[in-house]
Amino acid sequence: MNQIIRFCMSCGEPTQNRTPDGDNRSRAVCGQCGEIHYVNPKIVAGAVAVHEDRVLLCRRAIEPRKNYWTLPAGFMETDETVAEAAQRETREEALGEVRLNGLLSIGDVPHIGQVHMYYLGELVDGVHGVGIESLETRLFTEAEVPWEELAFRTVTETLRHYFSLRSRPGFDATSPGAPYQFTAQWKPAK
Ligand code: ZN
Repeated sequence: MNQIIRFCMSCGEPTQNRTPDGDNRSRAVCGQCGEIHYVNPKIVAGAVAVHEDRVLLCRRAIEPRKNYWTLPAGFMETDETVAEAAQRETREEALGEVRLNGLLSIGDVPHIGQVHMYYLGELVDGVHGVGIESLETRLFTEAEVPWEELAFRTVTETLRHYFSLRSRPGFDATSPGAPYQFTAQWKPAK
């Protein structure tokens, strides 16, 4: 993934793409002040918020994947933890409070420079509502999940993992165990 940075974020002068001394890949380097602009993956944090035997999904009001269903999730802010970001996104997109019980999944999405991290938690009192980025929020049983209308591969993988985990004997929702790790590869659109 190549993100283009044309102007220096420190002094505003144009940058040039070159490999800095001691580095092994091309970066946008400021021609004026020498600042090197590193582009690193972004973390998306979210939650599988469960109430009784149902999981909370939101139908997206915004692009990308408008109208498709997703777990509440979004980009982390710099002043919060992954867990706090997952709780904030659940609050913003689904007007719900989630009590987190552990990290459920880590999905690398290298072609777009993202890492998606989902926590497992309980939706407090089963309360949810339609946040500004959602058209609709709803609790789904496993049988009701609209698998063909899920917005992102990492959502599908995470939900599959959750239901598989839950079907195992002795499953403890307060202790999901080691997070499921996967890579969502690029796949051409149909
Ligand atoms: Zn500069």
